[in-house]
Amino acid sequence: MKRAIFPGSFDPLTLGHYDIIMRGITLFDEIVISIGVNSEKNYMFTLEQRMEFISKAFAQEPKIQVRTYEGLTVDFCKKIEANFILRGLRNPGDFEFEKAIAHTNRKLSEIETVFLLTSSGKSYISSSIVRDVIRNNGDYTGLVPDTVRIS
Ligand code: ADP
Repeated sequence: MKRAIFPGSFDPLTLGHYDIIMRGITLFDEIVISIGVNSEKNYMFTLEQRMEFISKAFAQEPKIQVRTYEGLTVDFCKKIEANFILRGLRNPGDFEFEKAIAHTNRKLSEIETVFLLTSSGKSYISSSIVRDVIRNNGDYTGLVPDTVRIS
């Protein structure tokens, strides 16, 4: 069973994440979208909201699960028997950041990180840009899946 985790904050889920997950599922038997819980971070959306956006977006996809975790990503991988970490790359900044993390995770474990390049037209989308648009009452709906809505 090839199981990968796709870790992140997902504050909120964007079409950039969605694209990487839907393309990733062609490579793995199961992807566990894993929301990292960091008590020192301030989030725009609660953990419950972030989980709901994700679980509704992938409700029709039996190969995609959603979980939360605290602590090291590699420890969570071992706990749920996932041998791969899926990550998306948008730009050289992502590459440098991800390279250090992937090397560290390799040092700590046998877990391989698999990178997918962002689709053309999605590279500018990030959760922080979506939060900025929301804060300033802009139309965020073209940047996120339909399940991400502010009530
Ligand atoms: P983090 O809290 O680790 O920054 P994010 O929720 O921002 O997590 O992102 C999780 C993963 O999704 C990362 O691998 C990131 O590179 C990837 N990602 C985010 N937006 C995009 C995008 N537009 N295209 C490709 N990958 C993306």
